[in-house]
Amino acid sequence: MRAEIVAVGTELLLGQILNTNARFLSQELAALGVDVYHRQVVGDNLGRIVRALEIARERADLIILTGGLGPTQDDLTRDAVAQLTGRSLAYHWPTLTRWEAFAASQGRNVAADSGKRQALMVEGADPFPNETGWAVGCAFEADGTHYMLLPGPPRELIPMFQKYARPWIRKLLGEENALHSVMLKFAGIGESAVEERLKDLVERQSDPTIAPYAKEGEVALRLSTKAATEEEARRKIAPVLEEIRARLGDHLYAEEDIALEEAVVRRLAETGRTVSAAESCTGGLLAELLTRVPGSSKVFKGGVVAYTIPVKKSVLGVPARLLEGADAPGAVSPETAAAMAEGAFRLTGSDFAVSVTGVAGPSEDEGKPVGLVFVGLAGRDLAARAVRLQLAGDREGIRLRAAKRALYELWRVLAQR
Ligand code: ATP
Ligand code: MG
Repeated sequence: MRAEIVAVGTELLLGQILNTNARFLSQELAALGVDVYHRQVVGDNLGRIVRALEIARERADLIILTGGLGPTQDDLTRDAVAQLTGRSLAYHWPTLTRWEAFAASQGRNVAADSGKRQALMVEGADPFPNETGWAVGCAFEADGTHYMLLPGPPRELIPMFQKYARPWIRKLLGEENALHSVMLKFAGIGESAVEERLKDLVERQSDPTIAPYAKEGEVALRLSTKAATEEEARRKIAPVLEEIRARLGDHLYAEEDIALEEAVVRRLAETGRTVSAAESCTGGLLAELLTRVPGSSKVFKGGVVAYTIPVKKSVLGVPARLLEGADAPGAVSPETAAAMAEGAFRLTGSDFAVSVTGVAGPSEDEGKPVGLVFVGLAGRDLAARAVRLQLAGDREGIRLRAAKRALYELWRVLAQR
C-alpha cells in the first residue's frame, strides 16, 4: 500500500505555518507499514488542488488530504475531490444537526450561515466525526484509489486520525498483514552511536525491520514485522530484540514509546522510592521534566535551583572550600556536583538526589569550556559521586541534554537496585 499526503493551504506555501500535519501523518503511516513516496503542498485553488490529486492518484493507492475543510470560500478540498471523482457532496446529518443547534444558540441565521458547509462530505463516504471542531472528515474509494479528507487544525486532525482514520486504514490493510511494532528508547547515547553498534543487524535484517525514529531530543528505534497475530509478531521480533538488549542494555530504558522521565518516575513508583534535585545550569528543567509525568508527586520530593555560589553554600550546604579560593575546584566540578546532590538528599529526606552543574554557554565560565557538565548523585546507600559530561549544542540544547543525562544517570542507578 502506497500513500500520498496532500496538504492544502496557501498559508503553507507562504511559510506562515509549518506543515506539521504532514510530519504527523508520515510518522503514523510508517508505523502502520504504509509506504509514503510523495507528499504535496498546494494552495487554496480549485484547479490546482484537482491537478495535484490527478498526479497523486497516478502513483498512490491512498491519498490523504489535510486542510481546506472549513466554512469559508477558500476551503475547497471537498469540492476538488468531488470534481475529480465525479461524486456529489451530501450532509453528514449528525454534524449538521449538532452545528445547527450550536449556531441557533449563538443567535446566528442558521439558513444563511456558511458554517454548515463543514457538515458536507463526499456522498456515501465513511464519515469521521470531528469531536474537537466542526468540519467532518471522511474516507472512500473511487476507481481503485482511496481518498481520505482530514481537517487542517492539528487539534482536530490528530484526535480524528487516532479515533477514526487509523482504524479505517488498518481495516484497509486487512488483519492478516497487519504491522506489529515495538518501539525501543535509548538514553545516554547518541543516535549515530546506536546505529554504529547495530550496523550489522540493520544491514542483515529485513524481517523484522529496524528503523530509527525521529523524536525531539531522544533516540528511538522501531522494530516492525507483518504478522497475523500479536503472538507470531512477538516470536519474530524476539531474537533481534534479545541481541539489541545484549548490546545496548545499559542504554535501553524502555521497550515502548515513553519519555525517559516517565521511565524514571515509574521505576521510582514501582520500588516505592523518592528523589530530589539540585540544579544550577539547568535552572529547574530537571524538576520540570519530572513533574511533567502524572503521578510524579508520589516520587519527586522537590528541587532547589542553586544558581549562585551563596545559594549553593547556604541552601545546599556546599562547603566554601569547594567554591572559593584560587585552588578550589569551583562551581563546575565533580566535587561540587556531588556536594549539591548530598545537600538535596539531606534537605528533603528523599531516597536519592540528583544534581546538575555545568557551563551552558554561550561563553566559558571559571575558565571551563562550554558544554562541560557534572551530574551528581547521592542516596541512602549510595556514596555521593559525580559523572563528567562534555555536551554539544547551543545554550538551550546543552541545558536539555544536561537534564536528560541527569535523568539517565539516575535511571542507571535505579535499574540496579
Ligand atoms: P478551518 O475550519 O480552521 O478553516 P480547515 O480544515 O479549513 O480548518 P485550513 O483552513 O486549511 O483548515 O487551516 C486552518 C488552520 O489549521 C491553519 O491556519 C493552521 O493553523 C492549521 N493547519 C492547516 N494545515 C496545516 C498543516 N498542514 N500543518 C499544520 N497546521 C495546519
Ligand atoms: Mg479553512
